[in-house]
Amino acid sequence: MLRNKLTFILLFSTFISAFSQKLNKLPEYTLSQTEAESHIRFLASDEMLGRRTGEVTNNVAARYIAEQFRKLGIKTTGGQPDYLQKVPLEYSKGGKASEMFVGKDTLKSGKDFVMLSGKAAKFQNTPVVFVGYGWIDDKQNDYKNIDVKGKIVVCQFGIPNNDKPFENMTGSTKKAKFAAENGALALVQLYNLNFPFASIIRNFGGERLMAASGVNSEIPHIWVNSTFIKQFSKENMNSLGMNVGEVVKKQVPAYNVVGVIEGTDSKLKNEYLVLSAHFDHIGAGKNYGKVTDSDTIFNGTRDNAMGTTALLMAARSFSAQKTKRSILLIGYTGEEMGMLGSKYYAENPLVPLKQCIFNLNSDGAGYNDSTKVTINGLDRTGAEGDIKAAAKAFGIEAINDPAPEQNLFDRSDNVSLAAKGIPAPNMAPGFTAFDAEIGKYYHQAADNPENISMSYLTKFCKVYIHSARLIANRANAPKWKVGDKYEKIGQELYGK
Ligand SMILES: [Zn+2]
Repeated sequence: MLRNKLTFILLFSTFISAFSQKLNKLPEYTLSQTEAESHIRFLASDEMLGRRTGEVTNNVAARYIAEQFRKLGIKTTGGQPDYLQKVPLEYSKGGKASEMFVGKDTLKSGKDFVMLSGKAAKFQNTPVVFVGYGWIDDKQNDYKNIDVKGKIVVCQFGIPNNDKPFENMTGSTKKAKFAAENGALALVQLYNLNFPFASIIRNFGGERLMAASGVNSEIPHIWVNSTFIKQFSKENMNSLGMNVGEVVKKQVPAYNVVGVIEGTDSKLKNEYLVLSAHFDHIGAGKNYGKVTDSDTIFNGTRDNAMGTTALLMAARSFSAQKTKRSILLIGYTGEEMGMLGSKYYAENPLVPLKQCIFNLNSDGAGYNDSTKVTINGLDRTGAEGDIKAAAKAFGIEAINDPAPEQNLFDRSDNVSLAAKGIPAPNMAPGFTAFDAEIGKYYHQAADNPENISMSYLTKFCKVYIHSARLIANRANAPKWKVGDKYEKIGQELYGK
C-alpha cells in the first residue's frame, strides 16, 4: 500500500515537472536569492550613505549598475561610449541674507521671498514697472512698448495660459532672461501657485540641486510670497529697494545608466520594452530627515534599492533568455530631487521614444503585504492581464494602487515617459494602504536592508521580470486603455 502510493506520487510528480519544465527553464524561475540579496545589501549599505544625487555615492551606485551591465554583456546605446548618460544638474547656493525694501517694510529672503539666481545687487528706491507675465513667445510680447531699462520688473508668476505647476516653475528662468535682455535691473515674480510658499522656500530657498537651466541669470530673479500681492501692485508701488547676495551655481555630475539587450525577432527587435528604476535616495544626516543616535543614514532599501535590484535581476534574466522585443534598461538618478533623471532622459532619449512601446518602472515606498505586488496604473494599459498572470505564476496577486486619488502614478519616474505617450505603469512591492507599517520605513533611517524579507524581494523580482517577459513577447504592443488621460498623446507618439 505504502509502496503503491509512493509510486503514484513519484509518477504524478514526474508528470507535473514535465508539464512545467518549459516555464521552469525561464531564468526568473530559478532566480538566485543570494544574488538579489547581494545587490540590495550593497546598494542600501550604510557605506553608500543614502545615494543622494549630487553626492559621490550616487555615482557609485550608477557605476555599480553599469558594471553589472558590462559583466552581462549588455550593450550601450544611442551612440554613448558607455552606459552612463550624463544628466546635467546644478547645485545652487546663496542669496540667503538678502532683503527687499517695500515702503517701510523690510522683506527677508528665505521667509518672504526666495532669490533663485543672479548676482549680488544693491538698489535704493528704484523705479518699478509692471509687465503682465513678463513673457515673450510667438503669440505675445509683454515687453512690447514698455521701457524697463534701469528699472525693476514686477510680473505675475509663471507662463500665460499654462496650468502645469512644473512648467510654470521651470519656464520662469526664461523670464529672467527676457527681463535682463530688455535691460531690467531685477525680476520680481508674484508667486501665486496653489502650492505652499513654505515648500517653495524649502525647495528653492537655500542650497538646492536642480536641472541645469543653462541660464544663470545676470540680474536678481526673485519670487515673492503671494501675501505681498497687494503691496506689489500698480496702485501701491512705484519703487523698490533691495540688498541681495549672489546665488552661486555649480555643475554637479550625475548619471542615468542605460543599456540594451537586443531582441531575437527580426522585426520586433526594433521595438523596445523599457525597464526602469531610480537608484538614488535622500542621503544621510539630519538635514534630510529624522535621525537617531544609532542611525543617521537613510538607506533607501525599499525606496528604491528594491526596484534597482529588480532592474539588475531583469538584466541578468533577459541576458540569459532573450525576448522577441529588445529590452532597454534604465537606472535613473535624481528621482527624489524631482524626477530629474527621468525627465532628462525623456527629453534626451537614447532610443527614439516611438520605438519604445511600453515602460515598466519599479519604484516603491515599502510594503505591508508580501502576498501582493502593487501596480500604479494596473488597469490603465493593455498589459493588465500579463502583469496579473505573472504575479499568479509566482503565487501572489497583482493589485491596483489602493489610493488612486493620491495620483501616485504621476509621482514617480514612470510619468516622465507616460507624459510622452508611452504606456508606463509602475510596479511597487505589495502595499494595500499608507499605514503605520509603510510609514515606519518610508524615507526613514530605519529603512535598512536587514529588515526586509529577502525571499519576498526575490519573488518581487520574479514577478517584475516575468511581467516584462510576457509583455516583450506579445504579438501586439499593449496600449493605453480607451479614455486614459495619456491615450491621445500615445496615439500621437505612435502615429495612429
Ligand atoms: Zn522612489
